[in-house]
Amino acid sequence: MTTKTYRSATLLVHQGIDRDPATGASAIPIYQASTYHHVGGQPGEYDYARSGNPSRRQVEDAIALLEGGVRGFAYATGMAAIGSALALLKSGDHLIAPNDLYGGSWRYLSTVLPEQGITTSFVDITDLNRIEAAITPATKAIFLETPSNPLFNITDIRAVTALARQRGLLTLLDNTFMTPLLQRPLELGVDVVIHSATKFLGGHSDLMAGLVTTADPQLAKRLKYFQNAFGAVLAPFDSFLLARGIKTLKLRLEAAQRSAQDLAERLQDHPAVARVWFPGLVDFAGRELHFSQASGAGAVLSFELKEQARVAPLLQQIKLPIIAPSLGGVETILTHCWSMSHAAIPAETKLRLGIRETLLRISVGIEDVEDLWEDLAAAL
Ligand SMILES: *Cc1c(COP(=O)(O)O)cnc(C)c1O
Repeated sequence: MTTKTYRSATLLVHQGIDRDPATGASAIPIYQASTYHHVGGQPGEYDYARSGNPSRRQVEDAIALLEGGVRGFAYATGMAAIGSALALLKSGDHLIAPNDLYGGSWRYLSTVLPEQGITTSFVDITDLNRIEAAITPATKAIFLETPSNPLFNITDIRAVTALARQRGLLTLLDNTFMTPLLQRPLELGVDVVIHSATKFLGGHSDLMAGLVTTADPQLAKRLKYFQNAFGAVLAPFDSFLLARGIKTLKLRLEAAQRSAQDLAERLQDHPAVARVWFPGLVDFAGRELHFSQASGAGAVLSFELKEQARVAPLLQQIKLPIIAPSLGGVETILTHCWSMSHAAIPAETKLRLGIRETLLRISVGIEDVEDLWEDLAAAL
């Protein structure tokens, strides 16, 4: 099954390979092997498992198919995917990134890459003038994440990729929050798309994985070379779990998105809540821009409590959500951004970005929304 004419739910279920070529089995087996017999001393399609594994190949083909890339790459975590994609840069290069970047990426770009001679300017990436002003002769790439997290700033993907093209810069976009089902950055001009597949693509909070894809054969070649050279690849069992998770993405994400809309509207009317951030709300500032480049609001929302004294009791009383720094699972996940997802970012920086101690993020799961609301309302 290699045609691209199928619609999203069909592609998600059948992916690039929908049965085991060797046996016809309905699922690609977990090829738990480190190397492959060379018949008569000659290598076959697979020669050593760091270079390639059929279980991993399934999810690599799937992400390329879903995003419209020429080739996909699977890594052990989302951060391994980000680090491996950024290996397209070299010492002396300069990068432009959002000042409200995902905390783990912020840590990597601000502490690890500088030691390797790659510097980053963190700017308000929603403002084209700020991006232009940050470009230097050493600038090689722009890193994007939209919607941003946890405050849902929306970046105009088409405008940034047009600017990047004009200035000869590479663009990379972390599409974790939207998934290829809701936002397809390669079609909007982005060069490299990255996912933490730990989140919605895996979807069950039971694995860690990262995916990268590109529509440019030259970039694909370099990504492939580095993936094999560095070796932060996704294991066969995790590849199997990820392939299985991807099959139900549409059912899960659409159900979660409906409930997120419902909860966002109810939270907005609650007297203990100061403000709600969710692209699906009619008064959400970036709504028009977001829906010009994405087909849905997603299933994550943030809200701020009026009183800080209510945060700890809420976290103690709430029963259904797992309280943790993650998102995208079938179960609802509640995050206190200040102390969890954004713990790596210094307090002054968080405050400057508007991430206060009263801010909570909910990744809405697929439970019954009335149960979620009753739980949340009681804890509020
Ligand atoms: C979680 C996350 C990552 C990192 O992924 P891991 O799988 O935890 O390494 C990167 N970007 C975003 C937007 C994320 O939410």
